[in-house]
Amino acid sequence: MVRRTVFRGGRVFDGSTTSEVDVAVEGDRIIGVGSGLDGDEAVDCTGMSVLPGLFDCHVHVMARDLDVSRTELEPFSLHYYEALRNLSLLLDQGITSARDAAGADAGVKRAIEQNIIEGPRLQIALVMLSQTGGHGDLHLLSGGSRSMAMMLPNPGRPRSVRDGPDDVRRGVREILRAGADAIKVATTGGVMSPGDDPRHAHFRDEELAVIAAEAAAAGTYFFAHAQGTEGIKAALRHGARSIEHGYHLDDEAIDLLLQKKAWLVPTLSATQAIVDAADRGVPIPDESLELAREALEAHRASFARAVDAGVSVAMGTDSPPYGHPGASNLDELLLMTKASSMTPEHAWRTATANAAELLGQRELGVFAPGKIADLVVIDGQLDDLNGLRDRVRHVVLGGRRVR
Ligand SMILES: [Zn+2]
Repeated sequence: MVRRTVFRGGRVFDGSTTSEVDVAVEGDRIIGVGSGLDGDEAVDCTGMSVLPGLFDCHVHVMARDLDVSRTELEPFSLHYYEALRNLSLLLDQGITSARDAAGADAGVKRAIEQNIIEGPRLQIALVMLSQTGGHGDLHLLSGGSRSMAMMLPNPGRPRSVRDGPDDVRRGVREILRAGADAIKVATTGGVMSPGDDPRHAHFRDEELAVIAAEAAAAGTYFFAHAQGTEGIKAALRHGARSIEHGYHLDDEAIDLLLQKKAWLVPTLSATQAIVDAADRGVPIPDESLELAREALEAHRASFARAVDAGVSVAMGTDSPPYGHPGASNLDELLLMTKASSMTPEHAWRTATANAAELLGQRELGVFAPGKIADLVVIDGQLDDLNGLRDRVRHVVLGGRRVR
């Protein structure tokens, strides 16, 4: 007989609103949400909040931090072991679903699915497509190249620097063949990559059209690392499902996000983390630090305007490299409410129902009978977004209590 567990006495956020009800779980499914539910076992949630398992739509589980000078000297295989720890840290925080935005390969995902290692449900991009001189191009002016292990091409991660429609087409097909769930593209430069500028647009229309067509033909989507205005708009015109970062949104970019029903994954944690890391003494190159400081205010202002305009937002952090030791992915919720008119309840939606919709996970992110039983129990009220990491009391993944 399958045991029925009832989470009783807590405030329940079902993905859209909060009420005082019980949640019943049987096997790997939610079987009831309502008052006075019966079960073989009850979990007392008095004084706590019960939510669907949380999402982080932008992680890099194969990386540790922003200290490139150190990570370049480490053995290639070390980043697979970093992933073990990072995946476990995500579960500690109640994050039961994540999208890895470059780094994790099909083996990492399969190891989780086969219960060889523990971790959240993972959607993977493998690599980030970049043009020559783009955000993912590791070339250095010295003639050498950066050798960050999580970005090196290998049998699990096809070469990601591509130019021209034919090369880009082959690239997307190789990435899909290697097991990617979605295609990540850098349509602008970035802050932490030497030699490119986050304000410059990367890839031309004919290349983006090929990426969009190949992703659609394979039944999936592409999403864009996009910081400067023109690269954001180009990605949206070609049907990017989400814009990651979005530092410089003008009115037209916001209109395009709305018209195209695209998502914004702001990753406010990321710009903040670069500045914080430098303050802590992490050797961040001067030009990167300058770009991050410049971007910080524009990023927050763009995000605030997007929220006011009603753009759909899903939570993502760019962690762990863009985090600090002891930081929580859930700090992003606090950053989002501080930077905009977003309410705490809206912030929780970005990490549950919204994120599930962005990632096409219809059975996750909400509580309703028949949905998959991923849930998290957090001490205290959900209006309070402080210190969330230390308030996680229970984490349930597919009906199994994992924390
Ligand atoms: Zn990223």
